Amino acid sequence: MRGVLALALLMFLSACAARPPEPPAAPAGPFSLSDQLTRSTGVRLATLSRDPGLCRAMLWEVRERYSEVPDRRAGPYCGFSQAVEVSGTPIPYTRNAKVTCPVAAALHVWQREVVIPAARRHFGRDVVAINHYGTYSCRMRNSRRGKVPSEHATANAIDIAGFRLSDDRNVTVLNGWNGGRDERAFLREVHRGACQVFRLVLGPDADAAHANHFHFDMGEWVACQ
Ligand SMILES: [Zn+2]
Repeated sequence: MRGVLALALLMFLSACAARPPEPPAAPAGPFSLSDQLTRSTGVRLATLSRDPGLCRAMLWEVRERYSEVPDRRAGPYCGFSQAVEVSGTPIPYTRNAKVTCPVAAALHVWQREVVIPAARRHFGRDVVAINHYGTYSCRMRNSRRGKVPSEHATANAIDIAGFRLSDDRNVTVLNGWNGGRDERAFLREVHRGACQVFRLVLGPDADAAHANHFHFDMGEWVACQ
């Protein structure tokens, strides 16, 4: 009998562990993408996943231009709805970025509140472009066969590869993470800052698959690695 109880307890605990944590409730009251970064910014941004209309209105309010991307269905796990293609971001991208609105909103805050001041502090320069490896991609996590679709499968993620500074210097995750002192400090600061706005942040310290980019997403799982 004791063995049966222990087995039941084990099954209950493993079922709990298999579920992503419940997001904490966001503080009450209105907020804007032009607000300063605070401890509650990430929780507030996460609520935008439940309100696409409010999310778009907030992009509009900070004068971020975006175009609607036609919805796409691609099999049981892949595709997106109500994605946006952003332009007029605080820092331009080297290629187009089609993402869910909450990812666009979080990127806006991260660029303005984290990336721009970090570059000025560590390099005395502005960032003139952000290079990314992609947003939408129909695949499972880490591109391996597995049971959990990646947030990329719904355009709810972006892989950031590097930053071009106003003196044409390129700071890449691949070379800079363990590179010179200023690049190491800058990249760690923008990685840590991303954890305040995105749900899941993975970088070179997470695993070998992220040696050359930061993965940011607005899915259910929360981690900062
Ligand atoms: Zn990724």
